[in-house]
Order: sequence, then C-alpha cells, then structure tokens
Amino acid sequence: MNDNGTAIISGASSGIGEATARGLAAAGLHVVLGARRLDRLEAIASEIGGTALPLDVTSPSSVAEFVAALPATPGRLVLVNNAGGARGLEPVESADEDHWRWMWETNVLGTLRLTKSLLPRLVDSGDGHVVTVTSVAAFETYDNGSGYTSAKHAQSALHRTLRGELLGRPVRFTEILPGMVETEFSLVRFDGDAARADAVYQGITPLTAQDVADTIVYAVTRPPHVNIDQIVLKPRAQASATRAHRE
Ligand code: NAP
Repeated sequence: MNDNGTAIISGASSGIGEATARGLAAAGLHVVLGARRLDRLEAIASEIGGTALPLDVTSPSSVAEFVAALPATPGRLVLVNNAGGARGLEPVESADEDHWRWMWETNVLGTLRLTKSLLPRLVDSGDGHVVTVTSVAAFETYDNGSGYTSAKHAQSALHRTLRGELLGRPVRFTEILPGMVETEFSLVRFDGDAARADAVYQGITPLTAQDVADTIVYAVTRPPHVNIDQIVLKPRAQASATRAHRE
C-alpha cells in the first residue's frame, strides 16, 4: 500500500477515468478503479498495481457494495467523480425521457450517492479531496443538449455546494470542466454510431484523456492547504460549446 494515499475513481474503465487512474498511480497513490466493465478495470488495475471493483453509480446497492469492499487504507483519500456522459442530442420538444433519466442518474445522482457514502471516510482521513469532472456544459447551454447541460449544471451545483458545507473540515473540492475530449463519450452519446462520433472531432485537434488527467493530477498533488476550485480546459480551436474552428 502506498504512502501517498488512496484515490477512488468512478468510471475508470475508459477515457478520462482510465487516464486519471494511470496518472494518479504514477504519482504514487494506490488507485481503486470502479465501473461496470470489470474485465477492463482488472486489466488496467493489474498494470498499475491498483484495485478493481464493480460499480454501477445508478444503483444504490451497487454503490453500497462498492464502498463496503474498499480496502481500509491509512492516510489521505481522494475521490474522483468521473463516471458520466451523454445520451442523444434532441430538442426539448422531442426530448427522450429515457435519455434524460440516464444522464441525471449517472452524472447527478451517481455523484451524490458515491460522494455521500464516502464523506465520513474523506473527513476521517484528515486529508480528503473530492474531484468532480463536470464539463463546459455545466456553465453553457446549447441547442439539442438540454438533457446533458441540465445534468452537468446540477452536478456542478452539487459539487460547489459541498465546498461550502464542508468548510472547516479537512476536505478539498476541485471541479474539472473540460471542453471537447476524444474518448468513448460520443460513441456512447450516439449509441455506438462510430461515423457520427468521429464527425464530432473532424478538422479539430481535441483534448486527449491524458490532457484532462494531467490537470487532475496537478490539483491532487498540491499541498493540503491549497484548494484548486475549478479548472476549465478546452482545445485551442474551441472557444465555447458551440463555437470551434475546423480546418
Ligand atoms: P467515456 O470514455 O465514455 O468514459 C465514461 C466512463 O464512465 C466509463 O469508464 C464508463 O464505464 C463509466 N460509466 C458510465 N456509466 C456508469 C455507471 N452507471 N456506473 C459506473 N461507471 C459508469 O467518456 P469520458 O469522456 O472519459 O467521460 C468521463 C467524464 O468526463 C464524464 O463525466 C463526461 O460527462 C465528462 N466529460 C467528457 C467530455 C468529452 O468531450 N469527452 C467533455 C466534458 C466532460 P462503464 O461503461 O464500464 O461503466
């Protein structure tokens, strides 16, 4: 077990979560990886000396089992709320309620469930840190994206509220707000339609999962009295959620 503490990462089976697991392991933390695809988690965990545990953040019983199975580790504790994503792209007038439910359950209630369950341990560690990956969609809106932007706004509000509620206790709160990152995000959003997912990144150099993980590692490796509240990062060619320069 490592002296630099423990990091628990939700959604560590791909994209930003996987890159963050690798980055925090390289920074000397013992990493606990949670997601639904256990085979992927186990492969990553065996490479970085981490612990893989099944986790479905939309299920209260899965979250309870995940928390009960966590190794009892001394020292500081980091939680990275990263599990999330988007489903569909529809105007409000034809909104798909199943898509909305998926997005709110995964991004908002998932973050609530995991954070709420771990707050006592984060406080007791004497040096807790909650990192939540929201999005530029947490402060912008765009046509056809209200299911996702509303969920990310709510996830951000939940995270920022904790910053105040936990004031005076030894827990830091960092929100990471990325723009366009090339991961499985668009494949999930468009239900496996690879051509539609690829088109999102055409003519632009998007951020990589590693770029985002680097900012998380930076925030987590500051001294305990330094709270990085928010980091907004976008590709150079992206000015806002709706405005990008494509070659
Ligand atoms: P990704 O490659 O699709 O990764 C999403 C991760 O979330 C996967 O590991 C997935 O694992 C996990 N996940 C999904 N549903 C889950 C559930 N019910 N329980 C537990 N884990 C679950 O996409 P990503 O881009 O890395 O996304 C990570 C975070 O960044 C998300 O919160 C996303 O909204 C945010 N973000 C992404 C972008 C972007 O452009 N890519 C921009 C801003 C913010 P399993 O399927 O194995 O469960």
